Amino acid sequence: MDPQYYIRLEDKFGAHNYKPLDVVLHRGQGVWVWDVEGKKYMDCLSAYSAVNQGHCHPKIMSTMIGQSRKLTLTSRAFRNDQLGLLYQEICVLTNSHKVLPMNSGAEAVETVIKAVRKWGYKVKGVAKDRAEIIVCENNFHGRTITIVGFSTNESSRDGFGPFTPGFKIIPFGDISALEAAITPNTVAFMVEPIQGEAGVIIPPPGFLKEAKSICEKNNVVLILDEIQTGLGRTGKLLAEQHDGIEADLTLIGKALSGGFYPISAVLSNKEVMDVLRPGEHGSTFGGNPLACAVARTALKVLIEENMIENAAAMGEYFLSKLLQIKNSHIKEVRGKGLMLAVEFIPGIGGARRYCEALMTQGLLCKETHDNIIRFTPPLVITKQEIDWAMERIEKVLTIK
Ligand SMILES: *Cc1c(COP(=O)(O)O)cnc(C)c1O
Repeated sequence: MDPQYYIRLEDKFGAHNYKPLDVVLHRGQGVWVWDVEGKKYMDCLSAYSAVNQGHCHPKIMSTMIGQSRKLTLTSRAFRNDQLGLLYQEICVLTNSHKVLPMNSGAEAVETVIKAVRKWGYKVKGVAKDRAEIIVCENNFHGRTITIVGFSTNESSRDGFGPFTPGFKIIPFGDISALEAAITPNTVAFMVEPIQGEAGVIIPPPGFLKEAKSICEKNNVVLILDEIQTGLGRTGKLLAEQHDGIEADLTLIGKALSGGFYPISAVLSNKEVMDVLRPGEHGSTFGGNPLACAVARTALKVLIEENMIENAAAMGEYFLSKLLQIKNSHIKEVRGKGLMLAVEFIPGIGGARRYCEALMTQGLLCKETHDNIIRFTPPLVITKQEIDWAMERIEKVLTIK
């Protein structure tokens, strides 16, 4: 089928809130996807890290089909036989005490904001409606009104006000700014361990550890948004493990279902979650048996098939190869595990053109801002597949 047919349909009948590459995908398996004309591509985006386990993983698929035949949605008005098992498995795996399931990442963020505010009033003793949450410049936590209200990206915010008050913004990775921003009304500091949408920005070494100790000292809840960095992407189950810390609250989503079904979760170490009482928060689809069953298998294959170790080893190999590219417009090549980026000197605007050129070579990736390309293939990628990718990347990115 002619891809232009589908592109025209999308453009005519759909909202234009995305600017996708003009490749119309039809089928996927592992790191590979095929378009409607049967052309094969390597997926180096993995749906923004939601497909860490690879496209259409057979075991997750089989759970999806099996559970669909049994029971899909009960609402939380009743219990189901998958939710408790998912809770237990997540808690054992991540050393958490409590779990709250939602659907999208943004909903997990909204949930955590509600929980820490309530904790601030009920436990910490902050005066009514005075709670403050500290976040970082260039953050990405989702797209709701409250969340874009504390974004520093103009296109995320412009035209959407008025916004929710109660947020303070500090530079990412700046410990003294964090210390200075804390007041008696501060309930939480929310941060990504590595900023994904900002372009794989890694904070200075020791930042998370120091942030954790400052939060502890000031009775401030540390929230790590691991929706993108979590579940193996950086070569550890959670990125916080690189720094040897445990956040009070951790957000996961994206790869929690291996790309099959929207599910996210708030993981709680501190008993912040206990402030939420029946009737105060919820979601019709949150914690449904289909999502839970799929997530259980998605977590299981991540561990059993050594995808996290593979991400660490293959990430190191991929990074070493990217570092060898000769192009005077490259400002920096960086990453951790299979969360990698090539940043170009600003103003050249080349990232999109490179992505389009890579697409014609059979490799799909997406620019973030106009000067950064992110490489985040599924964690099942092999050395041979990286070599295949590097042949194309080297050809397109090298400037003699
Ligand atoms: C993708 C992402 C979100 C939002 O997740 P959605 O499922 O798109 O709502 C939040 N935080 C981070 C770090 C993300 O990468």
